[in-house]
Amino acid sequence: MHREGKPKGFFYLDHRTVDGKHNLITDTYVTAGNIHDSQPYMARLKRQLERFGFNPVGVGLDAGYFTAPICHLLLAEQIYPVLGYRRPTHGANPIRKKQFIYNGQNDTYTCPNGQTLIYKTTSREGYRHYHSDATTCKICPLLSQCTQSKNTQKVITRHIWEADKEKANEIRLSQWGKKVYARRKETIERSFADAKQHHGHRYARFRGRAQVQMQCLLAATAQNIKKIAIKLFLLRFFRLFFNLFNKIQIKNLIYGLNKKINPELYRGLSSI
Ligand code: SF4
Repeated sequence: MHREGKPKGFFYLDHRTVDGKHNLITDTYVTAGNIHDSQPYMARLKRQLERFGFNPVGVGLDAGYFTAPICHLLLAEQIYPVLGYRRPTHGANPIRKKQFIYNGQNDTYTCPNGQTLIYKTTSREGYRHYHSDATTCKICPLLSQCTQSKNTQKVITRHIWEADKEKANEIRLSQWGKKVYARRKETIERSFADAKQHHGHRYARFRGRAQVQMQCLLAATAQNIKKIAIKLFLLRFFRLFFNLFNKIQIKNLIYGLNKKINPELYRGLSSI
């Protein structure tokens, strides 16, 4: 695994899903450490929708899942994506891509010098390429800050599902999106912290994906049993408490009625 802020070496990744209400683990899936987070995601989500009949309004995911295909497929399923934001890595050019304005109507980009970049081709990876006019760029005062290309042509790329990414960004910045994303910290982050601290998730006990999958399933089962037991206990406790509370209230009501009907009785009772 080679990731910023992560240790280097041989690792497995546990792709885990929890429900937003009770924090029960609904899926745990192991991949090798070199598999990108976004790769198994949609297949795992579909499996849960089919198996458990879930009908989620939205999903909260960390920045590793913020890709155009995930945004597109979630919106196609009518599930609101709330995804973490990761700053794009910048190249050597001080002029950034965000300074190029996209014109949706005629499908072009306008550069900071006012030149229009027009669509040329789409790559196999699904990126549309917009090219500038090299002769105009050659005499542009911003050339050295804009591109290092030898033929002085600037190329901007845009994924075919970039609009879905922009929509996901809008959702993330909405009040609702902020609440959903904050809920992640209380659910999935805690679930992983509990697994690491109490269920041996820091280290793989065996070698091989199937064995590690078994370890993750066992940890998830143990965590769910604990969570269900606590929920049931609290449910019974509160039911008992409310029953008691209701009984006292009914007694007080009868007592109050007696007071209204027969003040003498009330006076007599209170003096006992
Ligand atoms: S180098 Fe070309 S694309 Fe870049 S700002 Fe100048 S004219 Fe625009």
